[in-house]
Amino acid sequence: MEEMRSGVSRVAFIGSECYPFVKTGGLGDVMYALPRALAREGADIRVLLPLYSVIPQKYKDQMVWKGSFMMDLTQDGRSFFVGIMELTMNGVTYDFIENREFFDWGNPYTGLWEDIPKYCYFSKAALAALNYLEWVPDIVHCHDWQASLVPVYLRTRFALTPVGAARSILTIHNLRFQGICSIDHLKYWSGLQDDLFNYSVFLINGAEANMFKGGLAYADRVTTVSETYAREIQTDAFGEGLNAHLSYHREKLVGIVNGIDVEQWDSRTDALLPAPYGKEDVLARKPENKLALQRRLGLQEDPGRLVLGLISRLTDQKGLDLVNAIFEQMLDERTQVVVLGTGDPRYESAFRYFENAHRGQVCACIMYDESLSHQIYAGADALLVPSLFEPCGLTQLIAMRYGTVPIVRETGGLKDTVAPYQEETGEGNGFTFGDYRADLLLNAVRQARSVFFDHRDRWNGLVLRDMERDVSWNHSAQLYQNLYAELKG
Ligand code: ADP
Repeated sequence: MEEMRSGVSRVAFIGSECYPFVKTGGLGDVMYALPRALAREGADIRVLLPLYSVIPQKYKDQMVWKGSFMMDLTQDGRSFFVGIMELTMNGVTYDFIENREFFDWGNPYTGLWEDIPKYCYFSKAALAALNYLEWVPDIVHCHDWQASLVPVYLRTRFALTPVGAARSILTIHNLRFQGICSIDHLKYWSGLQDDLFNYSVFLINGAEANMFKGGLAYADRVTTVSETYAREIQTDAFGEGLNAHLSYHREKLVGIVNGIDVEQWDSRTDALLPAPYGKEDVLARKPENKLALQRRLGLQEDPGRLVLGLISRLTDQKGLDLVNAIFEQMLDERTQVVVLGTGDPRYESAFRYFENAHRGQVCACIMYDESLSHQIYAGADALLVPSLFEPCGLTQLIAMRYGTVPIVRETGGLKDTVAPYQEETGEGNGFTFGDYRADLLLNAVRQARSVFFDHRDRWNGLVLRDMERDVSWNHSAQLYQNLYAELKG
C-alpha cells in the first residue's frame, strides 16, 4: 500500500449513479464501494454525479454550495447553467452537478432521446467543474456510456485546460447500453467537431452515432468488470456490435473483477436483519432469518424448507426466461421461491402469476426495496443468477457473503467468482451450469436441492466456505491502483 501513498493520489470518478444517493443496479454499488476502498488506502478521490431530484432530501440537506458558471454545449453554442453542490462522506468528496432542465425529471434514466443530451451535458460539465474547482486529477475514471464522452472531451475541448493533463480510464459495466442515436442528435448536443464523426470514433452506420464507441476509442485504458467478460465482449455473441472495435483496442482492455463493500454488506452488523449472524452462528441463525422472511412475505413458516431467492432487474439479460420455463418443476412441497425485482412487464406478470398459482410457496415482490433485499440475502438458502450474460454480477457476491449458496450460469463474472460444486469432494462455492438451457438450470437446482436435503453436512460446508471467501474490494482496488500508477507513468 506504500505505493499508493507515494504514487497516484488524485482520481475523479465520473458516472451516472452512486449508492446511497441514487442506484438502479451494480454500477451504483461500484461507484460507492471502489472510491471508498481507494480512499481508505490514502488516495484522494472525488466522485462527480448529477444532482437528480430523486436524491433523498437528507443528503441534499448536507450539501454545500461550491459555485456556478455557464457552459456552452450545443453545436449552435447554447449555454447551460452548471451548479456544484458538495458533500463529503467517509473520506470521499462527492460533487453534484446541478441543472434543473436536465436532472429534475425524477428517475436518472428517462429514455434515450432525453438521456443523450443529459449525459452530453453531464460529461462536459463534470470536466468543467474540475477546472472550476481547481482540482486537477491524475486520472479521470469514467463509467459506462453515460460518462463516455469524458475521454473525448478531455482530448479535444479540454486538451489545453488544466484538467487536460489527466489520463482517462473508461470502465464497461454493461456493454448492452451504449447511447446510440442519430448522428445529428449527437452532433447537436455534444457540440463536438465533425471530424470525430467517422467509423473509428462515433459512427456505427450511415445514420447513427454511438457515444460508448467514441469513449472507448479515446480512453487511455478500458477496463471491464471481470476477466471473462473482457474476453467475451471481443466476440460476436457478447460484443453487442462493438466486438471488432474492442478487439482493435484490446491492448488497452483489461478485466478487473468487482468486489462488494464488506461494511455495507456485513451480516454481523446488518441492522436490517432480524437475527444478525457471523460464520460461527450462521447455521443456527439463518433459520431465524428465514422464518422472519417467510412471516413477512406470507409464506408457509417452516425453516426446514429450501428457500430459493432471486434479486434482479427483470430483463432478458438475467436469464428469466429459463427461470420461467422450469418454474413449476423447480417447486416441490419442500421448496419456496422469493423474487424481488422490477422491470420488463412480461416477467413481472409471469412472476405474479406464479405467486397466485402457488400462494404460500412463492412470493413475487415486484418492487425495488433495499431493506427486503438484505432480508432475502440473509433468509434464503440459495440465490438464482442464471444470466444470459453478466459482466460481473454483485448479487452472487453478496449472497456468498451472507452464507447463501449461488446457483449461476458460467458466464462473465459469475464464472470468475463462483467455483462449481464438486460432487466427489464437496468443494466449490455454488451450483453452476454452462450452456444457456432451461434443463441445465433445472439440473443445477435439483443438485442444490439434493445436497440441501440429503447431504446437509456438505451444504453447510458450502455455506461456511462462501462466508469465508474474500469478496471485498481489497485485491481489485489494488489492481486499479496499479493501473492508475502505470498510466501516470
Ligand atoms: P445489474 O447491475 O446488472 O443490475 P448486479 O448484480 O451487478 O446487476 O447488481 C445488482 C444490485 O442491485 C445488487 O446490489 C442487488 O442487490 C440490487 N438490486 C437489484 N434489484 C433489486 C431490487 N428489486 N430491490 C433491491 N435491490 C435490488
